[in-house]
Amino acid sequence: MITIALSKGRIFEETMPLLQAAGVTALEDPESSRKLILPTNRDDVRLIIVRASDVPTYVQYGAADLGVAGKDVLNEHGGEGLYQPLDLNIAKCRMMVAVRNDFDYESAVKQGARLRVATKYVKTAREHFASKGVHVDLIKLYGSMELAPLVGLSDAIVDLVSSGATLKANNLKAVEEIAPISSRLVVNQASLKLKRATIQPMLDAFAGAVKS
Ligand code: ATP
Ligand code: MG
Repeated sequence: MITIALSKGRIFEETMPLLQAAGVTALEDPESSRKLILPTNRDDVRLIIVRASDVPTYVQYGAADLGVAGKDVLNEHGGEGLYQPLDLNIAKCRMMVAVRNDFDYESAVKQGARLRVATKYVKTAREHFASKGVHVDLIKLYGSMELAPLVGLSDAIVDLVSSGATLKANNLKAVEEIAPISSRLVVNQASLKLKRATIQPMLDAFAGAVKS
């Protein structure tokens, strides 16, 4: 049995065509089904539906053989125990630093000010500001980072941005790109050795179906 960990929403939707290419079709839609384990057309393949940030953990411990996770999530997780053979080029966005429209980020950085930064991506933010030599106090949030600078919780946020419409609607501006983000296929390292006969053809099919 091969178990594939996916999250609902954009990752599930954008992964379906790639799974199709590997001959795998989900028999139920996770948006309407309450099931957390979804059968597929193949007796030897099942899907499990987990929170996006939990995908690397399920795969790391071998509870899932394969998974699809954003680079944002993988960087926070650290990637231990995971083989990351393929960028699927889906769920694309950018990890950015954003501030209020009236905040002069460049000057604050030049003056060596200590910045308060609110984010869900604490490790990514710590690494980014350390590499720039900017001192920061990090404030961990779990959602709606955009609110933090508006109510004085922080000077800046580190968050994913795609169109920028949410920033704009909240009088925020992106001031720095940290990294381009897309989702990767992740594979449990032991699974790849023990189940290579089943997994390798799936990896090849995925690779052939990835759009550049
Ligand atoms: P939750 O919504 O349950 O808190 P989440 O925000 O991590 O979790 P999603 O919003 O489904 O879950 O995001 C899943 C992945 O999709 C993210 O880890 C990221 O890689 C990518 N992603 C997030 N926001 C966008 C976006 N606006 N455009 C494109 N890709 C995105
Ligand atoms: Mg989300």
